[in-house]
Amino acid sequence: MSDPDADAAGRVTRLDAAARDRIAAGEVVTRPARVVAELLDNALDAGADRIEVAVAGDGTDRIRVRDDGHGMGRADARRAVERHTTSKLSGAADLDRVGTLGFRGEALPSIAAVSRLELLTGAGDEATRVTVDRDGERRVEPAARGPGTTVTVEDLLYNRTPRREALGTERTEFGRIAGVVTDYALCRPRVALSLTHDGTETLATGGGGPTDAALGVYDRRVAGESTVLDATATVGNVAVELSGTLAYPAVTRASRDHVRVAVRGRPVENPPLRRAIERGYGSLVPDDRHPVAAVDLTLPPAAVDPNVDPHKRRVALRPGGVADALADAVRDALSTADLRRGAAVATDLDAGLAPAAEGAFADARVIGRYRGLYLLCEAADDLLVIDQHAAHERVVYERLRGALADEPVPSAPVDPPATVALSPAGLAAVEERTAALAALGFDVEPFGGTAVRVAAVPAPLGRRASPDALRDAVDALRAGETADRRAALLKEFACHPSLRAGDDLSDEAARALLDALGDCERPYACPHGRPTVLALDETTLAKGFERGATRMD
Ligand code: ADP
Ligand code: MG
Repeated sequence: MSDPDADAAGRVTRLDAAARDRIAAGEVVTRPARVVAELLDNALDAGADRIEVAVAGDGTDRIRVRDDGHGMGRADARRAVERHTTSKLSGAADLDRVGTLGFRGEALPSIAAVSRLELLTGAGDEATRVTVDRDGERRVEPAARGPGTTVTVEDLLYNRTPRREALGTERTEFGRIAGVVTDYALCRPRVALSLTHDGTETLATGGGGPTDAALGVYDRRVAGESTVLDATATVGNVAVELSGTLAYPAVTRASRDHVRVAVRGRPVENPPLRRAIERGYGSLVPDDRHPVAAVDLTLPPAAVDPNVDPHKRRVALRPGGVADALADAVRDALSTADLRRGAAVATDLDAGLAPAAEGAFADARVIGRYRGLYLLCEAADDLLVIDQHAAHERVVYERLRGALADEPVPSAPVDPPATVALSPAGLAAVEERTAALAALGFDVEPFGGTAVRVAAVPAPLGRRASPDALRDAVDALRAGETADRRAALLKEFACHPSLRAGDDLSDEAARALLDALGDCERPYACPHGRPTVLALDETTLAKGFERGATRMD
């Protein structure tokens, strides 16, 4: 205890530098995936366009990250592995506006404290190799390498037996690494990123932008059926840029892991922002499914505090309301994106997606019907195929939603009244929620035992519900009355077979359906996210029939 402040009689002593280093290392290096994230941060901060990550085994054997960034001169390379050395901050004031992914100057020394680390870096025509072996012995020597940096980490956590033993299986740990690389690949779509496991490439993006990144991470379907988000919003006084990829609502996943958020190019865990993206999809995605989306939010550095988490995976945003702006941007992007499944119909013919024309349905002319299920319409250069049932469900859903917000759903008398048997709990719900049922268009009263008498049913759009639809409505009401539940109820209700449009629509009814669909906020998907409209454009047909591109008069 050589510390001059230490009082011989005291219990509180100051830790020495070695102890402090080991404690700090414990915060940074919890598992191989953390090391990969820190090395990716460094490569991105160095302005790399291409980053290759190679992993052996579960990552404790070897992790190598090679980048084509600006590299380091010899003096910097030597200093980089020392604690609290960074090129990214010059003082405490800079912490209020961190513009880089790294800023603490502790990743490389922390990793070096629990592994064998080699830093091979080139800048200008000088290249340097710095090695830190297991005893912390450092060697700096000239080397050969073009511009850029390669960091190799071996025997990770060799001196942290409990932590190493707490790691999952190779599969689990590599899965975590792949998750990290995927997050970065999607939020940095202009960087070509690849991941190799035991010599096999498992993921690679080309650096061509959001759609390209989606193709590298997912597949043709996700990349083809997605729209690019590129918007700005002002929140408080702060300008927020929103960019990324939103897969169409028909592409969903059972887990929410595919909804990714990044802030200033840093993947973050931020449940409110993730939920905001899901809110933006709203009723387009079924309740038990989740969308596939990756959004990066760019705010000025002063609006983001990345210094709230040892792993820098959480950030604090200064203006409130960013989540709402995000939900709105997602909603807008999806409602202006062409959700007509042009590509799905015409993939063989190699057609692209065209943006939806404003008022597409107003100009559409019904030219026929197919199998009593589909309306065929001519709209500008497109042939639209409309699924009558799906379209009708969307219309009913939006109307019900609107009606429920302001006024009751129109209803029609049932004469003579019908009797519907419910469960005892259902009966209790009817007694408690008579007003809510009335707002949905049901006039119901107890009729002895568990039966109820239905004197009126919902009749939106001139179609009457069957009295049996009461059971679905009651079930949904019983499940609770939060906003989500109400939306679910409305969806169920809108899709109830008894509310469906008849199969043989008259010309007027078909026209009315088109107009009603055109008035919808989100005409291109039914309440459960299935498409309502497929479009084939004329050039697609011309290509398919091997005609010239010009129209034949
Ligand atoms: P931080 O990133 O917080 O500054 P690190 O310990 O991760 O701290 O890195 C220390 C310094 O080493 C960085 O500030 C940077 O100057 C340099 N450095 C690390 N990795 C790279 C790299 N891949 N390319 C260029 N410079 C790097
Ligand atoms: Mg760093």
